[in-house]
Amino acid sequence: MKGRCLHEADSPAAWHPGQAQDQHHGEDCALASGHASPRHRSFRQRLHDWVLTDDRRQRQRLTMAGLAALLMLCCMLSMHIVAAVGLADARLVNAWTVMCVAGLLIVYALIRSGYSLRFPDPSLTHAQILYAIACNAVAYVIAGPARGIALPILAVVMMFGMFGLTPRQMIGVMVYALVMFGIAGAVVEWRSEPGHSQALSLAYAVMIVVVLLSSTFLTRRVQATREHLRRQRYELAQAVEQVRKLATHDELTGLPNRRYMLEVLRLEVLRAQRSGQPLLVAQLDIDHFKTVNDTHGHAMGDRALQVFARTVRASVRASDVLARWGGEEFILLLCNTPLAPADDLLERVRHAVAAQRLERPGSPPLQMTVSIGVTCLRPGEALEEALERADRALYSAKAAGRNRVAWMT
Ligand code: GH3
Ligand code: MG
Ligand code: MG
Repeated sequence: MKGRCLHEADSPAAWHPGQAQDQHHGEDCALASGHASPRHRSFRQRLHDWVLTDDRRQRQRLTMAGLAALLMLCCMLSMHIVAAVGLADARLVNAWTVMCVAGLLIVYALIRSGYSLRFPDPSLTHAQILYAIACNAVAYVIAGPARGIALPILAVVMMFGMFGLTPRQMIGVMVYALVMFGIAGAVVEWRSEPGHSQALSLAYAVMIVVVLLSSTFLTRRVQATREHLRRQRYELAQAVEQVRKLATHDELTGLPNRRYMLEVLRLEVLRAQRSGQPLLVAQLDIDHFKTVNDTHGHAMGDRALQVFARTVRASVRASDVLARWGGEEFILLLCNTPLAPADDLLERVRHAVAAQRLERPGSPPLQMTVSIGVTCLRPGEALEEALERADRALYSAKAAGRNRVAWMT
């Protein structure tokens, strides 16, 4: 960053002198990720990182999977209560528990190892939901007269889908759940347990369809709301960018405006004073611009200003900053440029402006010339003094006949 001028595209608000930025970069990263240096990490932090990784996105995925696992554990607890009071076969519930726990462990291992990153959905939300529905359908079969508990569980599983799946995926999940519970219902009928009520099974079936249809419908609403918010956020970001641009740039020429340029100059003066690198400030003023307006109209004057800005911009380096200072006056900041090359560059600018032809229908093309006053920042001096000297240099260029570069060092 040393010796680099602030580029036009940079924002002073987002810009800090290079060295300071580089120095603090490491610390910033540590702060952003919420981690102390490896030497100071406690055993708890290390265990936390080992279980959930130190990658923010992976941590989010594992936390969501953990939440789903917690719900699954609650379901297992309910099933064991059902088995404990003799409503369900304990052996079947134990086998079902093994099936559930195995699924949870596989999901954790796939996400924690990073293997799931090769899938389009690294959170495995879709797979987890399908597996949870399968476990739930099995629970419906083995829970005996308490099989009604499968209904709230199904609702909770579908709730996860509402926030993690697309409406299309949710329709697929709904069809899959209908098939799974259809099979489960058929098995229940086939087993015809003592005390089994077909009317109750029918009521459950109706409620299962209601849960599936309503959650699929709500997914559409949730997705539409999210899409709406996303669009609003995008539009807001665009508007903020537009406001920032308007506040820092001149509308006519697209160049940085005076306020923005003053910030840039202050920062660059500080940097040049610290580093001892030369800093040149040039003031450019179009010659006899008033006659352009008076003779050819204000609109032509505006066009001339745009062409002038484009011409000068194209003649200097990307790292030099050109700003519209006001009216037909411009400031050019040249960082880290020795005097002789700077003089060549400014002469190039002057020639480029003089060579420019503004075509006008039915009239000869319009030509412009520019006078340039330039100075070099002196050690320890304030920006205002340098600007004043550049202004005086410009005045002397005008006084000497215009269309020239005058130095005042
Ligand atoms: P000199 O060679 O001494 O600089 O003469 P000049 O005519 O260029 O200087 P003067 O300061 O007398 O006139 C500047 C003119 O620039 C006057 C003003 O109408 C015109 N001007 C300032 N801003 C704009 C603008 O945004 N658009 C247009 N079209 N004209 C502008
Ligand atoms: Mg002028
Ligand atoms: Mg002027």
